Amino acid sequence: MGAPTKPNLKRLKTALHAKQADLLRGLKNREGIVIEQAAEDIDHVQRAAEREITVSKLNLDSALLRSIRAALLRMDEGIYGECLHCEKPIGQKRLAAVPWAEYCIACQEAADQGKFDEQPAAVSKSE
Ligand SMILES: [Zn+2]
Repeated sequence: MGAPTKPNLKRLKTALHAKQADLLRGLKNREGIVIEQAAEDIDHVQRAAEREITVSKLNLDSALLRSIRAALLRMDEGIYGECLHCEKPIGQKRLAAVPWAEYCIACQEAADQGKFDEQPAAVSKSE
């Protein structure tokens, strides 16, 4: 009875893998589009603008992909679900919505506002 105290890792892992596969598929398709558009010379400016959007979306997806991989890595290391900044547990609701979340909501907000330096996920080796 009662809500489980630990996040459902199995389910989150499945979600992460699904999202990862999804992104990889999308990235592959979009790389094709970028090349295709580059080859065409009609409506130059329009095409260039479209390509720019595609490329920036591509960068976003690449960043997301990195976050997903990092999350899967943290699962293997048994530190998944901890905020990388304050080390408090990230809320389960947040993890369900954003399985690759690296920070708790408070830290994420601080990060978004540039209130703390986002250091790369420094995995502290405790040996
Ligand atoms: Zn935090």
